[in-house]
Amino acid sequence: MSMITGNISVQTENIFPIIKKFLYSDQEIFLRELVSNAVDATTKLQTLAKRGEVAGEIGDTHVEVIIDKEAKTLTIRDRGIGLTADEAQRYLSEVAFSSAAEFLEKYKEGNIIGHFGLGFYSAFMVASQVEVVSKSYKPNAKAVRWTCDGTPQYTIEEIEKAERGTDIILHVTAEDEQDYLDDAKIEGLLEKYCKFLPVDIQFGTKKEKPEGAETEIEVPNIVNNSAPIWKKSPNELSDDDYRNFYNEIYPLSTPPLFWIHLNIDYPFNLTGILYFPKISNALEAQKNKVQLYCNQVFVTDDVKEILPEFLTLLHGVIDSPDIPLNVSRSYLQSDREVKKITQYITKKVGDKLSELFRKDRAEYENKWKDISVFVKYGMLSDEKFDEKAREFVLLKNTEGSLFTLEEYREKVKPAQTDKNDRLVYIYSNNVDAHDAQIQAAKGRGYDVLEMDTVIDNHFMQHLEYKGDKVSFVRVDSETVDNLVPKDHKIESVLSEDQQKSVKSVFEKFIGIDDFNNRIELKALSPEDAPVQITRNEFMRRMSEMRQFSTMDMGSMPDSKTIVVNTNHPLVSDKLLTINDETKQNEFAQYLYDLARVSQGLLTGAELTAFVKRSLAFIK
Ligand code: ADP
Repeated sequence: MSMITGNISVQTENIFPIIKKFLYSDQEIFLRELVSNAVDATTKLQTLAKRGEVAGEIGDTHVEVIIDKEAKTLTIRDRGIGLTADEAQRYLSEVAFSSAAEFLEKYKEGNIIGHFGLGFYSAFMVASQVEVVSKSYKPNAKAVRWTCDGTPQYTIEEIEKAERGTDIILHVTAEDEQDYLDDAKIEGLLEKYCKFLPVDIQFGTKKEKPEGAETEIEVPNIVNNSAPIWKKSPNELSDDDYRNFYNEIYPLSTPPLFWIHLNIDYPFNLTGILYFPKISNALEAQKNKVQLYCNQVFVTDDVKEILPEFLTLLHGVIDSPDIPLNVSRSYLQSDREVKKITQYITKKVGDKLSELFRKDRAEYENKWKDISVFVKYGMLSDEKFDEKAREFVLLKNTEGSLFTLEEYREKVKPAQTDKNDRLVYIYSNNVDAHDAQIQAAKGRGYDVLEMDTVIDNHFMQHLEYKGDKVSFVRVDSETVDNLVPKDHKIESVLSEDQQKSVKSVFEKFIGIDDFNNRIELKALSPEDAPVQITRNEFMRRMSEMRQFSTMDMGSMPDSKTIVVNTNHPLVSDKLLTINDETKQNEFAQYLYDLARVSQGLLTGAELTAFVKRSLAFIK
């Protein structure tokens, strides 16, 4: 065969400048495309050999990536099925071209999650000329050389080539593409995209000392792990295998808590391993993202559209040829196949948590701190998960005990049911600041929950609205007697007139010019504090919501109520018997300051003044 020159049929414009322009930000994927083509050609050959359709031994079949700095070439070499002249004409000049053109059409419409489909022609993103030298496995096939320099014109000619397989030779001449002739750059890209491809990929050599040997020898530098554990069966694997793999994908991170091995082949194909990380801080949760693969080829670690948001807190890999990658992200979210996949994964995660909970409650409780955010987030965002998680979501009280929703309901029912038959759950988000109130609540026989993470506010609201017939009140939002509203009333030991004068004493220094504060007299038990400061639960929640909302909700004061216990001896006996008005004021103010101190509301200069006054009192 003599040299053939042909024209790739282009309608209006040259495709290569378009390829360069549109894919500029993702240029580097050319290497993934070419290496996965080489891997495909290799696995095809292996399959044919297994079926006895290849004459003789197939020999070594690893793929090689070679940089020649002098010649300015980057070569991707395989020992796969190769191409005959006819096939080169058909697959490279026609099929590959038209699929690249079709891909670019789609690409213009929106961002595309994986860039599969661009394939062979992505080579032109970095090469000024692409040369394909190939010899087919077919008996008596002649070797062929196909070249194209980025214009629609290409050449095909017969050449001599001893070995079966294909060399894709990229001539990297442009000044700003010289990076791709850099060893470190290429090794980095292979590490990123080709780390788990199913055929060994060699990049240069490295020195290694074989076991028992004295000196180092030169060995091929294989950059990938061709048999990643997610492709294996779980019963072949030990816990250490899973932990080592985690370390392989996220070097230097804290070991995971546990993991789920996903393996399904009907109605879609999906394998992978999801790890529950030890979330020590939010930043870390962001850092180690779930990686998406398609037949062991890395696609992306931005899986927002494929996993429900709460599952993106997990780490690990998902490998599925059934996730459509040549479509825009917004399409993915509504794709039915993708929905099925996310539902499956969500269910698996729920099953795993439920199994851990039932199998070893103590161990599950040990891990609760690390998984609670995840479980609560999942309940808030996924109805199905919410249903399932009701079995294993735990509530923690200020004593550190953990309860299921059912257990907690039973525990507090006798003491904490209000007059409308609603359960009242009392909580604190800061046990140190609320210590006085927590102790008082416990004294009443109430239990206090610890709800101190950002997500807890939403979680509590979720339980309130989800028909659980519970209300949450923060321990400082009511006086103890009113934490669980019931129909009972303690009489005040003071007469109406006496109460009026108590109130007027306090009014002198509180609230007159401050409409946020209110003074309320209450006949509490003599054991309760003489003065308490409460914050209305509803108003507080509203003002907290406002902090996080961008909507203008108008001004909403964070009001406090100063509750004076008229049955406390210091109020009923002492305060009213002080005749000197100044002394009486000082005394009332002191009781008020004590309340503020115990709730951490007295700080700075006011606190210093308080200490000074206390010292004067002692004198
Ligand atoms: P795709 O791989 O999606 O089919 P490509 O544009 O990457 O599309 O490649 C087009 C065709 O060229 C492939 O289908 C294959 O037949 C052929 N081809 C590409 N690279 C090789 C290779 N290294 N060995 C053999 N055939 C190849």
